[in-house]
Amino acid sequence: MKTAIFTNKTMHFFLDEHTSKLPDVKTTIFTTMSRLAKENNALNLSQGFPDFDSPKLLLEETKKALENSYDQYAPMAGAPILRDTIATKIQRCYQQNYCPESEITVTAGATQAIYTAISAFVKTNDEVIVLKPAYDCYEPAIKVNGGVPVLFQLEAPAYKIDWEAFAKQITPKTKMIIINSPNNPTGTLLNKSDMLALEELMKNTSILLLCDDVYEHIIFDDQKHQSACLYPELKKRAIICASFGKTYHITGWKIGYCIAPNELMHEFRKVHQYNVFSVHHPSQIALANYLNKSDDYLDLNAFYQTKRDKFINAIKDSKFTFTPTQGTYFQSLDYSNLSDENDMDYALRLVKEHKIAAIPLAPFNTDTTQTKVLRFCFAKKDVTLEKAAEILCKIN
Ligand code: PMP
Ligand code: GLN
Repeated sequence: MKTAIFTNKTMHFFLDEHTSKLPDVKTTIFTTMSRLAKENNALNLSQGFPDFDSPKLLLEETKKALENSYDQYAPMAGAPILRDTIATKIQRCYQQNYCPESEITVTAGATQAIYTAISAFVKTNDEVIVLKPAYDCYEPAIKVNGGVPVLFQLEAPAYKIDWEAFAKQITPKTKMIIINSPNNPTGTLLNKSDMLALEELMKNTSILLLCDDVYEHIIFDDQKHQSACLYPELKKRAIICASFGKTYHITGWKIGYCIAPNELMHEFRKVHQYNVFSVHHPSQIALANYLNKSDDYLDLNAFYQTKRDKFINAIKDSKFTFTPTQGTYFQSLDYSNLSDENDMDYALRLVKEHKIAAIPLAPFNTDTTQTKVLRFCFAKKDVTLEKAAEILCKIN
């Protein structure tokens, strides 16, 4: 069927399934569930964002930056002071050097960094391996650039990677592998042996590694983030995307960054300079000054571990079952004891009848049989978590 999307006397422009570049793409599940939460006056533990304030000092630095006339374009790659601060932070966390001048670019969130990286490197018919369940922005970006997502489904509840089976996905057309640890939506981590297996697989290839590291500072139970920059064969091909949104409770600011070796960053910036050019200048100055005064991102693991534990303790007597999440601020809950419905239907029922919104995992999976799981965001005030637990414990 053809739908007229634009008509006037001189032009007729029609869109159908052949002209759409992304015919299968629908409105994201995050937008859908947050809208339903609002419409149903439900507690929103679906889309991932905190319901508490960002640090006061960051607000003060922002006011100062706004008053100090950072009103014109920032340099294309980002305000130098912020790039220097990011380099220092990486040195401190991973003891690795990235040159602020040529290897770090400030982006409009991690989403833009990821999109730009895929656009800069993926050509028509190039294959990109994506581990499923996967965050939702990778596949559309691959497809819109003419690439082919190769989906490798992991099995609930452990989502462990069988590296021998994974190796079979690699072909002469493989251009890129995307990893996301801690993983959204599953909350699982890649450990040292995963990274060594990946390094072994990639070492004699020219395949690029795109790392979505937005939750690098939200990891629990004394585990450590295994950044690709710690593994020499991975570092030289790694394009690492990060976000200030998750780290400083400012998902609405849409500021993140990308780090990559010089030659890769050179290509990245060819696209970056034409899809955003540069990012909101006062926020960059504020973030740099804030980071130079506070290293509170180092406390984030403990902060969110307390929230995770509060949430899972409060629901331990409910009929939901779970494995404590290893990272991110999401907890998956299995509802097999409660319903046979698929996860989309069950999520719709929860929001309408029980007034609590969560994210079904089906949109992130290839395998829709693994769908008796919902994702709940625990980046919430204690009082919100208590209300959520009260609702969840009553469901039977
Ligand atoms: N990757 C993952 C895994 C995410 O959960 C998110 C959402 N924060 C993003 C990327 C996008 O980050 P940003 O909001 O900075 O664009
Ligand atoms: N990253 C957020 C989540 O996983 C959603 C971001 C968005 O709505 N695009 O919930």
